This record gives sequence, C-alpha cells and structure tokens, in this order.
Amino acid sequence: MRARCRLVVTGVVQGVGFRPFVYRTAASLGLAGCVRNTPEGVLIEVEGPCDLIEDFVSRLRSDAPALARVEAVHLEWMAPAGQSGFDIEVSRAGAGISTLIPPDIAVCRSCLREIHDRNDRRYRYPFTVCTECGPRFSIVLGLPYDRSNTTMKAFTMCPACAAEYEDPLTRRFHAEPTCCPRCGPRLWLSDKDGTAQRVKDPILAAARLLRKGKIVAIKGIGGFHLAVDAKNEEAVSRLRRLKQRNSKPFAVMVPDIETIKRIAFVGPEEINILLSPAHPIVLLRRKEVNEIAPSVAPGNRRIGAMLPYSPLHHLLLEQFRGVLVMTSANPHDEPIVRSNDEALTRLSGIADAFVFHDREIKARVDDSVVVYASGKMRMLRRSRGYVPVPLALPHSSIPVLGVGADLKNAFCLTRADEAFVGPYIGDLENAATIAYFDEALLHLCDLLDVRPKLIVHDLHPDYASTRIAKRLANETFSGATLLGLQHHHAHILSCCAEHGLEEAVIGIAADGMGYGLDGTSWGGEVLYVKGLDFRRLGHLHPLPLPGGDLASKEPWRMAVAALVATGNQELIERFAQKWAVRPDLLAAVARICRSPHCPMTTSTGRLFDAVSALTGLCLINTFEGEAAIALEHACDTAISDRAYNLPVLTGVSPLVMDSRSLLDAVIKDLLVGVPAQIVSSRFHRALVEGFVSVVLEARRATGIKRVALSGGVFQNVLLLESLVNRLKEEGAEVLVQEKVPTNDGGISLGQVLAGIFYTNSRFL
Ligand code: ZN
Ligand code: ZN
Ligand code: FE
Repeated sequence: MRARCRLVVTGVVQGVGFRPFVYRTAASLGLAGCVRNTPEGVLIEVEGPCDLIEDFVSRLRSDAPALARVEAVHLEWMAPAGQSGFDIEVSRAGAGISTLIPPDIAVCRSCLREIHDRNDRRYRYPFTVCTECGPRFSIVLGLPYDRSNTTMKAFTMCPACAAEYEDPLTRRFHAEPTCCPRCGPRLWLSDKDGTAQRVKDPILAAARLLRKGKIVAIKGIGGFHLAVDAKNEEAVSRLRRLKQRNSKPFAVMVPDIETIKRIAFVGPEEINILLSPAHPIVLLRRKEVNEIAPSVAPGNRRIGAMLPYSPLHHLLLEQFRGVLVMTSANPHDEPIVRSNDEALTRLSGIADAFVFHDREIKARVDDSVVVYASGKMRMLRRSRGYVPVPLALPHSSIPVLGVGADLKNAFCLTRADEAFVGPYIGDLENAATIAYFDEALLHLCDLLDVRPKLIVHDLHPDYASTRIAKRLANETFSGATLLGLQHHHAHILSCCAEHGLEEAVIGIAADGMGYGLDGTSWGGEVLYVKGLDFRRLGHLHPLPLPGGDLASKEPWRMAVAALVATGNQELIERFAQKWAVRPDLLAAVARICRSPHCPMTTSTGRLFDAVSALTGLCLINTFEGEAAIALEHACDTAISDRAYNLPVLTGVSPLVMDSRSLLDAVIKDLLVGVPAQIVSSRFHRALVEGFVSVVLEARRATGIKRVALSGGVFQNVLLLESLVNRLKEEGAEVLVQEKVPTNDGGISLGQVLAGIFYTNSRFL
C-alpha cells in the first residue's frame, strides 16, 4: 500500500550531513518526498510503499552519519500526494528552536586527502571542510544552522563551491562552511607588530620561524594558540617567562600516533580518544627518556598530547616536522584570545609573529583535556569538540542556570530535559574572565532560545560566581529565583546527574575546598545525598588553615599546620630547614595555627598539600593542584607496601577520619629518612582505607550500596583507581564522573539538577 509520512527528527542533525544522508537513503529506496532544516528539527516527508517507508524510518537511526545523534523521530502518517522525485528545500526560520548545534569537529580523512592532492582545487588549502568535519559551534551565530547564520556569511561561494553545495551526491552538499582558495578565508603571516609579511607560503614561513625557536601565535578553531618548538628548551622556557607561567604543563601537538609513542605510553583506548572527532588533549604517562624539552611539563610524569585537528595544523606540522607546544593564548589567566585585533594587543610582547586568518571566531572554545582512568575516558576540561552537546536530565523543567564555582568555571543551562554545559571559562578572578562568562552565557541563551528562570549558585558568600548569580537575577534575567547549593552537595549531584540517578547515594567528595554549612571550609566529606537532602556522614578531622586562601597557594603553610595539629611543633624548624621561609613568617604561621581563631578545613586537597610540603616535594603551588600532583607522581606504584593508619573515630556523628594520626605517621617516617615514594604510597593507601571504612559504616547505617565519587582530588588517577577497586571489592556500586569534569568544572551540572528537584518540589 502506498502512503506518505511526515517525520520530524531532533538531536544533532544539522551541520553533520544529515539532509544528504536522508536524500541518498530515500533515493536508494525509490521514495519520493522532501527534506528541510527547520528550527524544530529536520522535517522529512516521504511517499511510497508502506514497507519501504518503515525501512526508511529505521535506517534514519541505524545508518545516520557518524557525527549525527538522532534523539527522537516524530512520525505522522498522511494520505499520499502523488509526488515523484525527492527535493531538498531551503531552511525556514521560526520560533521554538529545539535543534542542537554540533560541536567543532576535527578535519576528516576525505578532506585531508584533498589538501594533499596536487591535482585537487583545495590542495594545501587550510580551510577545507565538508559536512563531516570542521568548525561548527565556534562559528555559529544563530539557528537554524545555515551559512547565513555562521561567520562564513562574509564569503560568497564561487561557482565551483556552489555547485558542490547544491549537489546531493557530493560530500559538500549543504556543507555550510564550505569554501575553496578562490572564494574562502585566507591566511597570512604578520610580524610582531601586526605588519603583514610578503611571503608566498605563510605556513612554510611560520614553520621556519618555529624551527628557529620563535614564538608564533596561530589563530585556530576556538581561539589563538601560542606555538613553539617543543624540543627547544630555550624557546620553551622563554615562552614560560613571557607568559608568566611558572610550571603549569604545556600541551603538545604531535604529528602522528607513531611520534606520540616515542614520547609517552599510549594504550589502544587512548589512541581511540586521540583520534576521536573531538581530538582532545589526552594526558599520557610520559616516557623517562624522550625528545621533549624539560620545561614543557617540568617535574610532571604525564604529558598532555593532541593530534592536529584543523587542516592548518596538519599543514603546519608537515612543514615543521616535529612536535609543537600549543598552548592556549590567554595571557594573565584571562580568556583565550579570539580576534585578530585582540591578539595584537593582548599577545604583544609574547608572540614573535602571528598567523592570522579572516574567518571570524564567534564563540571561544579552549582545547578539551581528558585522561583515561579506571576504564573510562574522564573529562578534565570540557570545551572544544564537546560543547554544546547536551546531557540528558531525568525531568523536564523551567530553564535553570547553574553558574558553577570560581575555579575552572563552566556554567550549565537547561532547556526542557537537557543540560548544556558551556565552554571552559577559567578561574573567575579577573574582570576579563567574568566578561567572558557573560559573553558565553548570553550567546548560549540566544542559541538555545532560553532565559533562565532559576539560578543556582554556590553557598560561598564571597565567590565571584555567587555575585554573578545575584547580578544576573537582578539585571539580565530579572525576576529569576536564586537558589544556593552547598559545594560538595553539588559535586555529588553532578555525578548523579551524569548517571541519571535520583535515588539516594553515599557521596565521597574529595576536593580542594568548598564552603561548608558551618562556615568552615570542607573537602574531605562522606555525604548522604538524595535530591535536595544531604547530610554529612563523615569527614576528615579539621586541620588549621593558616592564612585562608594563602594556605591553598602555599602548601608549606599546611605543613606547619600539620606539625602543630599533631603536637609536633618542636619539629617545625627541623622540617623548615630546606624551605627558604623567613623565620619570623614561620613563627607567625605557627602562632596562627595554634590560635583558636584560625580557620579550619577538612579538605582532602589541603591534606595532600601538607604531606607534599612535609616531604619537600612542593612548597608553593604555582597552579592549582601542583603539590597534590607532585605527591601522586612521586608514588612508586610498584612497591607493595603497608598503609598508614587513618583511624575512624567512633562514637561521634558525623564520623571523623583522624587525619592527625595519619600526619603523625608521615612525620615519623620522614624523620627516619623514609623516601617520598614510600611515604606517598602509604599515604594514598591510608586515604583509600579511611574512606572505605566510613562508607562501610554509612552503608550499615543507611543500607545504601551506591557510592558516587566527585571532587577535584579524583583527578588523581592513582587515588581514583585504587578507591574504585576497593569499593567494588566491598560490593559497592561505584559511580564516577565521565562526561563532565570531577573538578569544579562539573559543578554546574549538579547545580542545575538541584534546581530541577527544587522546581519540581515547588510546582508539582
Ligand atoms: Zn571533511
Ligand atoms: Zn570556492
Ligand atoms: Fe570543588
């Protein structure tokens, strides 16, 4: 029987070659009809024999293009109209946008083949794209996803490009950013003052400068990189000096997997991640002996590596024939540089030359950073290649905004039952970063066509993010309700949100610091969490936090706190011999630690700091987590050794893990010359056993078997993997974050989940 069917397909279905796929599928089945992009999704009408239409509908899901994500197919049967042939219609704008913008995707194999083919008209053209690859989110101005709604609207297609764009049988059929050397963006090289250089091949010229050890700023997909020869120690350390970046590791761009294998240990899962459409930076275990300059990742056992992801990167690395440091161009911890003018002003004094192009970047997106740990890819920074892919929420609700926390900020916005975590914003500690927060938030609100009605923020009264939330509720989104949420409650809810879980869990929040309900700073917490309810089941024993925020920047202060808290103050001078801290300052810090007014913390991060500084591994954090990373990397996992005792004090509620007794054992070991590798190993084991004991106690009391892990300390692969294994041995079901960072970059997802529980409890 003959019929006609009207289908609306939603999900990531625009800008990924979906309409040509629909066309080819319909044509292969001999079906008539039409397809077009609408703001509601891809609208298809097909006409023909019923069984073939059913076949067509099932192929929409099973055979969809690699980058497409079909979320729903709404189907409506109609009377046949007697149409023959299949049309692809132009887009129509309209209200009620429910279609998703794809993320930026690494250049595909077919495009790469073309830029390497002397006879192809796109030979060596750095802006080659097709429906299966190229920039998306970073160049989209609005929806529907059409060329006129991207920054490519500035370029008019030449006849050859227009013909491909119109031909359903080419890879560039409705490839919105398509272009060629005749009609598309162009590339040029400028000197450090911005004067364009008369060179025939700007990429070759840039490669030559890099070979000479120069720093070249390169405009990429989501912003500028600063590039330098990764083997040239002098050049790399000069970049560090100019960027005022002490020892925070630089990422490298490596031409191919073979070269990565020379530098680092890389397993099959890691290779898959490196080659995945997002092409993120993957943290890999680096080899002892390798060709990379020491200053790239000083003292770090890992190295962040990525493969070239734009045609420009491929062409550059082929000319350069080596490994490049490719670090986000963001001077003074400000947002990544986006426009050519911004690059000239903000990178002056750092870059020796610029590779510019005239394709505008609309949305800044930093490179994403991931690590493979405990059997899964774990997000450390979620941005390019992943934003704005939504995460499913358990319920639909009014639009909710989670503003995140102050460090590694990323906000999260909901539309119906989907959560959109925004790009990595950075630490909200300067005006430029806060301005970027506003810029990125308003852009995403526009793209999703939502305005938040509920804004969830951290309980910390002095957080910049809390002030932002209040300002937004007063001005930009006036009338929106404000909801404060405890930091670690949000961390655990973020983990629950990822796993679509609403039931009660035991949460382990091992974190830097977060404002606690009692006004002290928390971060070593075992929590009962069920929706908006939470209570503390256990925590680390509080330690003095001399100097508040200063203590988290200067781990030696936590070492003093540890010596005071364990009653070992007479040992301070002995430990401080190698610290190069002024004696009067040392005495003052010790005095503060003894004072009843000294702020206290249960933070796991600060406990790591204390041990790291006591062993002498790291006295000052030049970036967040440096001391903790040093302690993790010092650990010799080959040693099978005992753990220190982290006793759980009984008869108190919440339970207390006595970190003082653990620290006392560390101090005693160090006094008799036990090396840092062994101290670190015993310390890691102690923490694992401490948390496991509290979880087992909590399970006895509550009957809950599910354990959710979150907090910045779980970026520590060693701690994460050993804790997960131990909990599983004890029969727990363990939930770990994958899709959003376990650090504060994932907190906004937990905030919006709380917001959804809140609206549902109020309005149902
Ligand atoms: Zn392509
Ligand atoms: Zn062209
Ligand atoms: Fe946190």
